[in-house]
Amino acid sequence: MKPFDRRNFLKTGAVSIAGLAIGKELKASPKNHHSSEPSRVITRKLGNTGIQIPIVSLGVGRCDSPAVVKGALKLGMNHFDTAHVYQQGNSEKMLGEVLKEYPRESFTIATKVKTMNSKEKFMETLDTSLERLQMDYVDILYLHAKNNRKSTLDAEMLEALKMAKKLGKAKHLGVSTHSNEPEVIQAAIDSGVYEVVLTSVNFKQEHSAQLKEKIAEAASKGIGIVGMKVMAGGYMDKEKLVPVNYTAALKWVLQDENIHTTIPSMVNLEQLMNNASVLQELEFNEQEKNDLAFASELEGLFCNACSNCVKNCTKKLPIPGLMRAYMYSYGYGETQKAKALVESLALNDNPCQNCNTCKARCVKGFNIAEKINDINRLKRIPSEFLT
Ligand code: SF4
Ligand code: SF4
Repeated sequence: MKPFDRRNFLKTGAVSIAGLAIGKELKASPKNHHSSEPSRVITRKLGNTGIQIPIVSLGVGRCDSPAVVKGALKLGMNHFDTAHVYQQGNSEKMLGEVLKEYPRESFTIATKVKTMNSKEKFMETLDTSLERLQMDYVDILYLHAKNNRKSTLDAEMLEALKMAKKLGKAKHLGVSTHSNEPEVIQAAIDSGVYEVVLTSVNFKQEHSAQLKEKIAEAASKGIGIVGMKVMAGGYMDKEKLVPVNYTAALKWVLQDENIHTTIPSMVNLEQLMNNASVLQELEFNEQEKNDLAFASELEGLFCNACSNCVKNCTKKLPIPGLMRAYMYSYGYGETQKAKALVESLALNDNPCQNCNTCKARCVKGFNIAEKINDINRLKRIPSEFLT
């Protein structure tokens, strides 16, 4: 394998000249959408849902650009992933405004609703999402961000999900998870309710083998598998000097045919074009192989959420959540989301105060106390100054 070349790594992390040229085309009106169907897009069957889904879909968590949504459709990337809480509802609103111009059957869409106190509240929240989306139904409705068996199988929420499907507000039901994923996937298999699992999966996960095994089991039982957090933080370092090679990261995930699609977040046409290249080509080029090998050796920003560190933490702090906030802030530049996450953990202003020696050990080598101190400062910054 060729030695790593930082200049090339940075170059492939950015968009190519060719990509920029196509990007200009995408700024054209979408009126000819139906006459320019993309060819050779690789699709996979999303489990027993029957949905034939492109292997790269558009994650709309941070995207506020109608041009990116229209461009995605033009490229054959016709599955969209959002959530009730993304951008305080503006993600769903933006998608609704754009997609109302397209025949409903020309795309599929997923949204996510968090666990609520009652099924009535869950349904009210779903109705708000549908109003924002200007749609009668979503193709996939996920119970949002579960991290253990108990909450995945919450009887009230399973009832709410089934009700949403019965009323025609959701074609298929799913659960999303970005920690303790194998346990959640096993619960999804056992539930008899979930048809799709949206799970973190990337080349920086320490528990990759265990996760892949559980994914394979779920896929063999007809559950559709959607991959998220595929970019493993977007950057390998806080200073943003070493970006993840996006196409390499995507291809790594998609080598596993049990993963039917991925939902990388794309915020501009350059990112769209870069990721869209994977829709037609899954083979690694030499540069991608080198970049993956290099990035695999680095500590990076992605926390496995394995909780191995928590047992030795003197104060049993919610370290995985804090590390995820750190990644949102420094990897993805989502400082408002990071702040909201830190605030939701309800810690004091100096969580590590009076703890002179950090006993929490990270399996990846993170300096946990330093990162906690760093990210916790976000609480003191007014939201209007954050992105
Ligand atoms: S310094 Fe380390 S052990 Fe102490 S509270 Fe902070 S994370 Fe926990
Ligand atoms: S900080 Fe390290 S040990 Fe702790 S949950 Fe994250 S990856 Fe695991």
